[in-house]
Amino acid sequence: MQDCIFCKIVKKELPAFIFYEDEFVIGFLDINPLTEGHTLVVPKAHYESIFDIDEEALQKIISVSQKISKRIKEALRVEGVNLINASGVVAGQSVPHFHFHIIPRKAGDEINLASWWRSKVKEVDKEKLKELAEKLKT
Ligand code: AMP
Ligand code: ZN
Repeated sequence: MQDCIFCKIVKKELPAFIFYEDEFVIGFLDINPLTEGHTLVVPKAHYESIFDIDEEALQKIISVSQKISKRIKEALRVEGVNLINASGVVAGQSVPHFHFHIIPRKAGDEINLASWWRSKVKEVDKEKLKELAEKLKT
């Protein structure tokens, strides 16, 4: 895609701190990191989001995300990572080229994702969950 910044990074038309590259995927540092080593894993081909990405491309990205997570854990001595994908503007996606964020985590890093999550949890009765599960069966 012509105006897509991640396509431009793939084609080396825009500079980026790429530290992983194979035939299908690149991994580079996010310029607005949440924590040290915050990485974006991106397919070389342009897909917008989880809704249109090719299944094979997605499998490759997941596999590379595992490799990079292990490398980050070892090289930056972190204790965990969060893998996050935003698909759709309403979900917070700002770059419309599919990507996983890998966010390295250390104790006391003050990201507080789990406590924020718990603070947002809604109460729901089992009947409603049963109805929803029925509705979502494929
Ligand atoms: P999202 O909001 O989930 O679509 O994530 C897009 C991410 O891309 C943001 O975290 C940005 O900081 C990051 N980003 C945007 N432009 C660049 C760039 N040129 N190089 C590296 N990261 C970028
Ligand atoms: Zn693109």
